[in-house]
Amino acid sequence: MLLRQLQEFDLQIQAINSRAEEMREDLEELNQLHDGLNDSLLTQKKQLSDTRAMMKEKEDMLANNEERHNLSKSRLNQVSNTREYNALEKEMETIRKMNGLLEEERESLREAIEGSEADVADKQGKVAHLKSQIDEALSIMEHEAATAGAKTDKLSAERLTVRNQIEKTLVRRYEFIAGRRPGKAVVSAHQGMCTGCNMMLPPQLYNELQLDLKILQCTNCQRILFYESEEDRARNNAG
Ligand SMILES: [Zn+2]
Repeated sequence: MLLRQLQEFDLQIQAINSRAEEMREDLEELNQLHDGLNDSLLTQKKQLSDTRAMMKEKEDMLANNEERHNLSKSRLNQVSNTREYNALEKEMETIRKMNGLLEEERESLREAIEGSEADVADKQGKVAHLKSQIDEALSIMEHEAATAGAKTDKLSAERLTVRNQIEKTLVRRYEFIAGRRPGKAVVSAHQGMCTGCNMMLPPQLYNELQLDLKILQCTNCQRILFYESEEDRARNNAG
């Protein structure tokens, strides 16, 4: 049946096109993952640099206080009265308390920085991995696109040769069904059943089909039918 040959070409062309479509979708998905992760990486890097700046500030304050404390300490030996001595002691006490708090803050910032650095490194690794997956997918796509164009051109030309040998109304009927039904438009009938929709065919129709005198369609799904005997089926399944 020439229609089955025509369908074979259509299925091959479809397979090539859907493979290309699938690759485009996969690539799109990878790109979205990459961009999302990269955005979050940039945000986290910015936060990390803000936290480092904050830590630097605390360290500067600590050093500054340390200096003031040392200065007060050296002045202790030079004071002439108790009132001045007590004032200096009090000032030093205040500085020590402040530094105690600053050290705690510095410690928690240090912990935040360490956690953030580990996260950034982890994300950087993931982003780099995604990038290499994208590059690989792109190179496969480019390679396949180059051969797919030539393949579909050749198949289309061969398809046209077959199509020209089939009666016009039949081609139109086939193309009408192919455009509206998923899967194949030409299917086998086997053991009284349409293999397109898996419904039992009227016995009269199934008998006519076996005579192979005219083109018949499934009464349920309208697909074009051909009869497949047990031997045909065994042979087709083996091949
Ligand atoms: Zn059917």
